[in-house]
Amino acid sequence: MNLKNLTPIRAGSPGCRICEGVGFLLEENVQNSSSGVLVLCSCMSEACRSCPSRGRAPFMIYDESQNRMMSCVCHDAREEMNRIESLVKKAGIPAKYRYRTLDRMDLNITTTSEQGFFVAHDWANHLVSEWERLGSLRQGLYLWGNTGSGKTLLACAILNELILRYGLECKYAKINRDFLSTIRDTYQKDSQIHGMEQTIKKQFMEVEVLVLDDFGANKESDWANSQLYDLIDSRYEEEKVTVLTSNISLSDWKDKAEGRIFSRLMEMTKEIHLDCSDYRLTHAVHTKS
Ligand SMILES: [Zn+2]
Ligand SMILES: [Zn+2]
Repeated sequence: MNLKNLTPIRAGSPGCRICEGVGFLLEENVQNSSSGVLVLCSCMSEACRSCPSRGRAPFMIYDESQNRMMSCVCHDAREEMNRIESLVKKAGIPAKYRYRTLDRMDLNITTTSEQGFFVAHDWANHLVSEWERLGSLRQGLYLWGNTGSGKTLLACAILNELILRYGLECKYAKINRDFLSTIRDTYQKDSQIHGMEQTIKKQFMEVEVLVLDDFGANKESDWANSQLYDLIDSRYEEEKVTVLTSNISLSDWKDKAEGRIFSRLMEMTKEIHLDCSDYRLTHAVHTKS
């Protein structure tokens, strides 16, 4: 897939009809990879035959006429690919959602129950395409609905697009496994992350864009609620964008944690209900990826 509309990067050959100047593509039909991989465009790979370190940094070649090392023609394209790949990896986006983008989703609404997905897609698109213009007016999303309604897919697509478009630092986390359990781990003396509670919390609080998947799926306790509130509150104070997915509505939070999580999320996010019974199944045949 051509990434011309998703990334401002033009590291390729300007006249190339395949990548239209980007320098690399998203190869979608790759064995053992449901989400595809970035590959160098042929306009670059053909020109780089002499590059001795093909595929590995620093992508330099020795120029005899000038008696010095010079950047290979593939240099910028490979550097950009590596940068995007490492941001996607660092974000912890689950393998099957990596590189999934909003423009490749099937929006042929066949039932009224799918309308929520359409609305959420629209808001997600608004957020990523207007990111720079919105500035401090950026609003996160609270996507809730049944399993299979497409909420995690949408949340991950937002991260993928923000990485491709702006090179932002993002993070995907399942609330229980990646956040609460990790903090609990820091209390264990034999854990590798023993004593690192503050460092870990800081990562969650400071990352530019955070997806919290399965928000509220944890066993409720005063401890868990106060961890969640501290995280949400700190991201609110720092004006960081947070996208949450949940099985429960925002109003269900009114009675939890003295309503504190509820009131913060009301200010930080736009709530959208995805009531499609199974977006993944009904649209699996139509989606291009
Ligand atoms: Zn090309
Ligand atoms: Zn090269």
